Amino acid sequence: MVSGDGCGRDARRGPSRGFRGVQGGSIGSGGAAAGCGRALRGDGRCRPCMTSDRSAAHSLPAGASPAEIAAALDGWFRRSARRLPWRQNPTPYRVWVAEVMLQQTTVAACIPRFERFIRRFPDVRALAAASLEDVLSEWEGLGYYSRARNLWSAARVIVDLHGGELPSDIESLRTLPGIGHYTAGAIRSIAFDLPAGMVDANIRRVLGRVAGIEPSNAAERSVFQLCLSLSASGSPRIVNQALMELGSLVCLPRGPLCGECPFRSSCRARLEERFDCWHGSVPKEARVAQVEEVCITASVEENWLLSRPCDGRWRGMWEFPRARLQDGSAAPAEVARSVLERDFGVVPVSVQHTGSLRYRVTVHDTQLHVVSAMLPCEPESALREWRLIPTDELAEIPLPSPMRRIARSLISQRLAGLDMHGREGA
Ligand code: SF4
Repeated sequence: MVSGDGCGRDARRGPSRGFRGVQGGSIGSGGAAAGCGRALRGDGRCRPCMTSDRSAAHSLPAGASPAEIAAALDGWFRRSARRLPWRQNPTPYRVWVAEVMLQQTTVAACIPRFERFIRRFPDVRALAAASLEDVLSEWEGLGYYSRARNLWSAARVIVDLHGGELPSDIESLRTLPGIGHYTAGAIRSIAFDLPAGMVDANIRRVLGRVAGIEPSNAAERSVFQLCLSLSASGSPRIVNQALMELGSLVCLPRGPLCGECPFRSSCRARLEERFDCWHGSVPKEARVAQVEEVCITASVEENWLLSRPCDGRWRGMWEFPRARLQDGSAAPAEVARSVLERDFGVVPVSVQHTGSLRYRVTVHDTQLHVVSAMLPCEPESALREWRLIPTDELAEIPLPSPMRRIARSLISQRLAGLDMHGREGA
C-alpha cells in the first residue's frame, strides 16, 4: 500500500507501487464519471455537489475506491499520528473544547491549556454552571476571548435544550454559539464516529493536491464532498483526523514531505510537481493600524479601580480604565484626568504618565500609555461598571494580556516595597 520511492523528478515516469489499483492512474482528469462514481451531467456538473467544472468535481485517483483511500489513511494515521491529549478518550465535550481551542492557538500551546481547562471544567454541566468570569479567567492568555464566551454560552444551551449532551447532527450543532461548519463536522466525525465533511487549511491542501482540485469557489464544495465521501468509507473518526494530521505533519504548505505520504504514488500535485497549487493560505499583507490608548492605574487607598471594557473586544473581562487617544488629543495624563472625572465622577488628587507598552490585536498595533492616578474616594455617579480590587487579588481577576502585564508590574512593585505608584517607602 505504501511505496518507498522518494519525491523527485522520477515521479513523472509513473509510480512503481501505490494503492492497489492506483498505479499510473491520472487523478482528477475528468471523463465520463467523477471519481466518486457519480456520473457527470452533460454540462460537466456533478449532480450531488453541482460543481461547475470537471476539474473541480470531487475525484479520486483513477482505479482507487474511497474505501481504499480511507484504508490507506487509516493505516498511516495509526502508525504516524501524534499522541495528543484530546485524542485520548475523544468524548464530544473534549473534542469540542479542543477544536475551539485549536482554532487560533498552536498545538504545542494548546496541550497544557486543554488539560488544565478540562481539569477545571470536566464536562458540559460543569462549564455551564461556572461563571463567565471564571471561564474567561481560565482562558486568559489564549486570546480571542469570544471563543471562551461562546463555549460558555453553548454549554448553557446544551444543558437547557439537549439534556447536557452535545447533539450529533450537523443542524443541531450549528445552532450552538461558536460552532460553524468545520467544528460541527469535527465533533460529528471525531467524537461520534459518524460521516461528516469538513474543510480546514490542512484538509483543503491534502485533498486539493491529491485530487488535483484547482483552487476556486467551487473547489471548496468539492473538497467538502470528497472528505464526506472518504469519511463514509472508513472510520470517520480516523479518516478525518488522518487528513488533518497529514496536512500538519507531511503535506506541508511549502516543502511537502512526499516520501512519507501514503499518496506519494498517486498524488496529482506530486506527479505534476505543482506544489504551488494549494500551498495553503498565504498571509496577506495586513494593513496594520497604529493606535494609541491611555490606560489608567487609579487607586483608592490600597485598591485598584477596574472597569468593564469600553469596547466589545474584551467583553466579560475587567481592565484598568482605558480610552482611545485621537489625533489632537491632549497629553495622556490630561486625558486620564478627564476620563476619571467624566466616566467615574471623581477628581484625581494626582496623575502621572508612568510609561507605555505595545500590544497587537488583529491589525491594530496599539501603544498603551499607562497613567497612574491617586483618587481621594470611590467613584461617584460612574458611567461605566467598576469595582475596586486589592493588589493581592489582581491575580484572580480575568484580565486581557496587556492588562495582565500591567497588573504583574503593580504586584511586583508591592512586593518590592514601593507604594501604589511605584515610589519608595510604601
Ligand atoms: S505530501 Fe506530497 S504526495 Fe502527499 S498529498 Fe502532499 S503533495 Fe501529495
